[in-house]
Amino acid sequence: RAKSQGRNRFQFFNHNLQADIINNKRLADEILSGIESGEFTTWYQPQFSARTMQLTGVEALVRWQHPSRGLLTPDKFLKIAEEINVVQTLDRIVLETALKDKMRWAALGVCVPKVSVNVSARRLHDDALADSLRMLQISPGEISFELVESIFLDESEDVAAENLEKIKALGIDIEIDDFGTGHTSIVSLLKLKPKRLKIDRQLVQPIITSAQERALVRSIIDIARSLGVETVAEGVETVAHASLLLELGCDLLQGYAFSRPLSFDDFTQAAIGTAWRIAS
Ligand code: C2E
Ligand code: MG
Ligand code: MG
Ligand code: MG
Repeated sequence: RAKSQGRNRFQFFNHNLQADIINNKRLADEILSGIESGEFTTWYQPQFSARTMQLTGVEALVRWQHPSRGLLTPDKFLKIAEEINVVQTLDRIVLETALKDKMRWAALGVCVPKVSVNVSARRLHDDALADSLRMLQISPGEISFELVESIFLDESEDVAAENLEKIKALGIDIEIDDFGTGHTSIVSLLKLKPKRLKIDRQLVQPIITSAQERALVRSIIDIARSLGVETVAEGVETVAHASLLLELGCDLLQGYAFSRPLSFDDFTQAAIGTAWRIAS
């Protein structure tokens, strides 16, 4: 009996593994054809000045308008996209869409001073990156690259460091994304001279209930400020968080308390409406 149970368990495991492989292969094929047919789109989440509550910019976030499964968020496809080496293509699509959308906003009288895009390790380590960016004729300060801490622990650090300097020389700002989730010291990160530090929502969310977390976030903000680096809080879900973050000296706020990520049309409507004041 034990033997047959064991075999059943083994078959069960085997079956799941096989199903995973088949599903992943199908997803990979769908991602490739989705790129070909323009199914990947860019959504926008606004960011606000904590002090004035004016719109200061947006974060561009990739979405997949899947033909049968509807709108998909990155957790459904980014890992596979990385595995099949197309995450950098998605990054490029998002940046190019964001630049076009920024011009459409300008034509509509909507001022979006800055768009931040997420940049994968793959893209940062591509030695053709700077040349491809140069052709886009980006104005200084209008685009930020969000880079997660782990990018700087990678093997090919040299290409990344070189690219970082080239990117900055093109007028693109650097933001450290999800700060506080990795193991990198704040001092070593700030040596990269980023424009902004985005404090991860895992650190931000407990500040109301935990004095210790509050002190931690306060000191992160203080260190960043003393080095001339702006701070952005992620995952700001309540008004209480927003006002406490203002008190702690945080510069910019992003989160569901203000808005979820929106399609171009929904964002435009909200920005034109009375929902947000527009930074001058
Ligand atoms: P991220 O860069 O940290 O982006 C913020 C994520 O937090 C977004 O999830 C956003 O919808 C979510 N979020 C915003 N406000 C709140 C809040 O108040 N509460 C909570 N619980 N969540 C909030 P999303 O769009 O699903 O993206 C997930 C991650 O996927 C991003 O995290 C980023 O690491 C990655 N990603 C998104 N777009 C791109 C892209 O174009 N390229 C690359 N390489 N990665 C991307
Ligand atoms: Mg980000
Ligand atoms: Mg983030
Ligand atoms: Mg995050």
